[in-house]
Parts: sequence; structure tokens; C-alpha cells
Amino acid sequence: MKRKEFIYSILGTAAVAKIASLERVQQVLKEEDIKQPVLFMGHGSPMNAIENNEFTAYWKTLAATLTPPKAVICISAHWLTNGTKITAMNHPKTIHDFGGFPKALFDVKYPAPGNPELAKETKTLIKTTDVALDHDWGLDHGSWSVICQMFPNADIPVLQLSIDYNKPAQYHYDLAKQLSDLRKKGVLIMGSGNMVHNLGMIGFGPKKEGESFDFNKEYGYDWALEMKEIFHQKITNRNHTDLINYQKLHKDALLAIPTPDHYYPLMYALGLQDDKEELAIFNDRAVAGSLTMTSVKIG
Ligand code: ZN
Repeated sequence: MKRKEFIYSILGTAAVAKIASLERVQQVLKEEDIKQPVLFMGHGSPMNAIENNEFTAYWKTLAATLTPPKAVICISAHWLTNGTKITAMNHPKTIHDFGGFPKALFDVKYPAPGNPELAKETKTLIKTTDVALDHDWGLDHGSWSVICQMFPNADIPVLQLSIDYNKPAQYHYDLAKQLSDLRKKGVLIMGSGNMVHNLGMIGFGPKKEGESFDFNKEYGYDWALEMKEIFHQKITNRNHTDLINYQKLHKDALLAIPTPDHYYPLMYALGLQDDKEELAIFNDRAVAGSLTMTSVKIG
């Protein structure tokens, strides 16, 4: 007797039909389950790759709540190009695109595979520009310093989509929308930057006697704290138009965003927010005077 006939014989046809439909319901639920959220991750210091602190603790907690994604596409503040590119190699290298940090950070390798097929599919989805398949880049610290904490096993393919630095915020917001279908296919799309990011003005405030250096100590200039609140409110209220026109957010907006490299990844996250989709803001702290770690999970 075949397996199917055997099951019918002991349960009866009606019961088997019920189980089959239950399985279908479960399958549909599972399919819905895999729609991935969209993230904007405030990455801050590259040292977050190897430190355990309140920010990285949240990255780990967040990753643990996700259905494991089939792949991650990261839009990093550290890959600025003419035109848009996507990494299309099988084995993206770990790029140590910084200086003056301990050897332990340069020793980090994040050997996540690429996914050339997904790169091609993404290229096809984006209609407004001809996306180039890239075989030279890899994973810069904007992506690996965060992703290595979230997915330490490096078993999920990671791709990077570059930022066309000739284009304004609106362009990036609109481009992101074309990636929407990938979320339903289990791809986690992640912008990685910092909303307030002025490296030229970094400062750590008054230091208590005996206090050791901590880049991530909570400290922000008044204008940085004001901008942090504005971002919180505008994002919560889904006021994307104001966020796209960021120069007009506040008289000090250009202190927070002197160059938009670390801000544009936010445009990708917001562009992918579906109608009425819920969001959560986390790591909403200022550090080093002129940076904020504010991060967003959409969906
Ligand atoms: Zn950065």
C-alpha cells in the first residue's frame, strides 16, 4: 500500500482533505511570514563590529526576531558611485575601508557568500536606471560591521547596492520602491548610515576623573539632539516629503547632514515603507556630539 492510500485508510477521505487544507493554510501563512521588514541601521564607529555594547546588543536581538532572510541587500553609506551598481560576485571580499583602528578590527573577515542570480534579478527590477553588475567591490564596513553582529555565522548571502552620489534624495527614495517585490521573496533590505553624521565636529563633552574613553557614551550637541527629535517625529508621522527635503528640516540641518552619504541609506528604507506599515525606532541615541545611532525597523 502506498503512503497516501495508507493514510486515507486509517483517517478517511474527509480527514485527509482537512489536513491538506490545513497544510495549505500553514503554507500560505509561511509565505506571508517571510515578507521581510526593511531596516535603517545607524552604524556609528567601525568598532561596533567587535564590541559588545547597547547598540550591538539590539542588533543581535533584532536579528533573532527575524525569519532568517534568504539574502541581505545592504545600501551602505560607504559605497558611493557614478551610476548604481550591485555586487554580483560569488564571494565578496571584506573591505577594511578605514584607518587608525586596532589590528583586531582589520583581522575581521566576514565570509558571507554573494548571490549573482539575485544581483541580476535586482538589476531587472530597477527600471529607472541601468544597474551595473559589479565584480570589484565586496562588503565595506557600512555593511559587515553591522551584519557580522546580526548574522555571525556568515551563512546568509549579502549583496551591496551602491549609492549614485550624483543624484538627490528623491531619486534614491524612488529607486528603493522598485525593490519592493524582493521583500516578499525573503530578502532583507537594509540601509546603513547615520542620520546625524558630522565627523568634523566630533566631541565627547566633559570627562569625569578616571573615566575611560567610550566613543558610544551618550553625548550630543544641542543641535544634534534637536535634529534627533525632528527625525524621530518625522519618521514616526511618516512625513517622507520633509525628510526627502532634508535641507529645510531645521536651521541646523546642514550641521547634521553636511554631506548626504550617511543620510541617503535612510531614503531606501523609507521608500520601501508600504502604506500604513508599522515601524519601530531603536538605538535612538546621540554619541560623540555630532552623530546619532537612530535606527528604524519598518514592517
Ligand atoms: Zn559610516
